[in-house]
Formats: sequence, C-alpha cells, structure tokens
Amino acid sequence: MRGFFSRSFVFFLFLPAVGGVLCGCRSVPITDRTQLLLTSSSYENELGAEAFAEYKQKLPRSNNARYNEALNRVGNSVRQVAPSNDFQWEFTVLESPTENAFCLPGGKVAVYSGLMKVMKNEAELAAVVAHEIGHAIARHGGERMSWAQLQALGALGLAIGLENETANGVYGTGTELGVMLPFSRSNEYEADRIGLVLMARAGYNPQAAVQFWTRFSRGKQSSFLDTLTSTHPCDADRIAELQTHMPQAEADYRKAAAKKNYGITLN
Ligand SMILES: [Zn+2]
Repeated sequence: MRGFFSRSFVFFLFLPAVGGVLCGCRSVPITDRTQLLLTSSSYENELGAEAFAEYKQKLPRSNNARYNEALNRVGNSVRQVAPSNDFQWEFTVLESPTENAFCLPGGKVAVYSGLMKVMKNEAELAAVVAHEIGHAIARHGGERMSWAQLQALGALGLAIGLENETANGVYGTGTELGVMLPFSRSNEYEADRIGLVLMARAGYNPQAAVQFWTRFSRGKQSSFLDTLTSTHPCDADRIAELQTHMPQAEADYRKAAAKKNYGITLN
C-alpha cells in the first residue's frame, strides 16, 4: 500500500515538470530541431561572460597581428550572417600551445594560437569558428542545463517518495553544464551543420570544413594537448554527415554576396 502512494506521489511531482517541457521548447535556428530550454538566454550569456573573463585572466592575448586580424575578419563575417540573437560578440586569440577553440554562450569566441598554427587558410579558420558559434546559436549549454534541471526534479521526486538521498550531489554546477563540459555527439553534428551553412553564407568555401577536420584528426590521439580532437571526435561518420549537408552549403555559398573562397593563407 505504501509503495502505491509513493509512486503516485512521484507521478504527481513530475506533472509540473512535464508542463514545463511543453512551455520550454524552442526551434534551433537553421536545423529546426525542437529542443528543451528551461533556462533564459540572459542567464546562459551571463555564465558565458564570467567564464570568458576567467579564460582571459589565465591566458594572455596573442600579439600575433596576422592571427588577430584573421580571426576578427572571419568572426565579423560569420556574425553578420548568423541568425539574430542577443550576443555581445568578442573574438580573441589566446596565447597557448593547446590546439583548441570555443564560443561561449553570448558570442564569446576564443581561438588558441596553437590551433591558429595548424590552419592552412582563413576558410579553415571560418569552419572552426562557425562550428563553435553553431554550438552557441543552438544554445547547447542551456539545453544541457535544462535536461539536468528536469532530471534533478525527477530525482527529487524519487528522493522524497523513496526517502533516500538520490538528489544529493549528482549534478554539475550551472557553469559546468552550460559552459565547460564537452558536448554530445548529436550536438557536434548539429554544430557542424550550422557551421557549414554559416561559413558558406559568410563567403567561405564550405569544402574547407571537410578538408580541415579530415587533416586535423588524422593520426591524432586524444590528449589534453589537442583538446579540439578529444572534444570533437572526427571519424568517417562525422565527415559523411558533413557531406550530406554540403549541397545546402554549396547553394548558400553560390548566393553569398562577397565570396572569399579560401581567403588569406595563414600557414
Ligand atoms: Zn563542437
């Protein structure tokens, strides 16, 4: 009898969460996937700005004028074709041998000088920057926080119903969930697709994305020194997925107002 009441209680608790799901959905720009979002973009952007300030405190800005100019040119070209948003854009080359790049919620973009050194041209840089911007535009961090909130609510129901401590200490902080943790494989595919379209609309040859990811991943073992590879596993499936979106990207590239093709040679 007690078990029956516990289950009913848990179900009752969970109902408002289901209501929250119905109210908290949004369509991802460019892919039109319906996603769960219970967090506000202003909260996500605040976390992004705080984390970005910490990165800039830990690592010096690169004084390589060529790299800084290239990132500003690429970043501004991509942001001009990005779907409208409430971002306060910032593009920074950070001095570090690590081969990595990211875009935090709110449009805070950083590329490490270690990664700039392996870019052949501006179009390859556009592929990486547009991919990272794709994560931010798709609000993957907010989505992950939203699922954690929902899980926490479910676990809270279980903890109360079953009188245990399931809800305690299981979930990460907002910063970890919204900003720091690597994204899921499906998030990576979605960022690839958004990035491919954005770089093409910005006038960069979308074939550079396939060229970069194929070359960059070849022979690399995941380690802390090549974070981009460890967080962006690039295999035949990923390249094949990129290729399925190439016709749309090629069409966008043909329509782009200012074509840059591969842009300036970087290395
Ligand atoms: Zn990614």
